[in-house]
Amino acid sequence: MSRVYNFSAGPSMLPESVLKKAAEEMLDYQGSGQSVMEMSHRSKVFDGIIKDAEKLVRELMNVPDNYKVLFLQGGGSSQFTMVAQNLMNKNNKADYIITGQWAKKAWKEAARYGDAKAVASSEDKVFSYIPKTTRADFRDDADYVYICMNNTIYGTVYHELPDTGDIPLVADISSCIMSTPLDISKFGLVFAGAQKNLAPAGLTIVIVREDLLGNAMDITPNMFNYKTHADADSLFNTPPCYTIYIAKLVMEWIKNDIGGLEKMQERNEKKAAILYDFLDNSKLFKGTVVKEDRSLMNVPFVTGDADLDAKFVKEATEAGFVNIKGHRTVGGMRASIYNAMPIEGVEKLVEFMKDFEAKNS
Ligand SMILES: *Cc1c(COP(=O)(O)O)cnc(C)c1O
Repeated sequence: MSRVYNFSAGPSMLPESVLKKAAEEMLDYQGSGQSVMEMSHRSKVFDGIIKDAEKLVRELMNVPDNYKVLFLQGGGSSQFTMVAQNLMNKNNKADYIITGQWAKKAWKEAARYGDAKAVASSEDKVFSYIPKTTRADFRDDADYVYICMNNTIYGTVYHELPDTGDIPLVADISSCIMSTPLDISKFGLVFAGAQKNLAPAGLTIVIVREDLLGNAMDITPNMFNYKTHADADSLFNTPPCYTIYIAKLVMEWIKNDIGGLEKMQERNEKKAAILYDFLDNSKLFKGTVVKEDRSLMNVPFVTGDADLDAKFVKEATEAGFVNIKGHRTVGGMRASIYNAMPIEGVEKLVEFMKDFEAKNS
């Protein structure tokens, strides 16, 4: 068996030990005589799994007691609608910071349901930086301010949160969940599709402050109302059982093998530094993002020559570094180095890049 280093922006790598454990438990989960794929979501065994998963989210992310943790389906994209329908409910106004495609999609969706205003944007420079904002940029009567915390496509991240005063802050943390500690009390709501950092596709985690629940727009479909799921402990209908189980295994890996989110951050900073240090000193490759806003998770880079970029992607793929082609709006390459990417994967990639540079310059 030979496994590649998968630099995909998502779905992405899972820890090998988690895949092995899942394989071991595939036919008979802990003496139940069934796979988790087959069991009733109302069974005692699955109840243990989903309760453990919630406990781990709360413990690892230090979630305050006045927040609900929800396990939903529909991906990050459904949250673009759910956030608007559930939270744009007092003055029917929300302010959006446009830092890339995902924020833009969320904003456009919200604009279908109310007065969604783009208050700042970094589109003028292909989203290569995080626009600076102050409290004065936001409308006093906005129901919430929306950000995309880590911009998967462009490789920027909020190292410091915008000051929104007492306006609830909502963040899409799909591509950075559990990569570093995060102070949940600073947010009204955060959400994340699981397939970047936590599990296979199919699960979306929402963490929402309780006082924001229960005031959704009348048009909100029952399945899109957070309260429906909060009241039923995420068991209103069949949840994505197997994906929740894998998320639980990944969180156990973060807790027991890595040692929690502080340690996860150290490891992620070390990995990213290997790549950024090389890019800063390379004569051939260069990063596309301003230094102060660089993401720990997604690292876009270019040679400046489209043909050479294509050659690099082809040779890298042949050498076992797969899915490293950049997004079509940026070009070049993007190495997504989520939690599960081992340090060794990044070290070997940089060796390969050095070699390519020597041969092609
Ligand atoms: C991948 C991604 C999404 C979209 O998630 P889906 O689950 O495919 O709907 C949204 N936001 C961010 C930041 C992402 O990285």
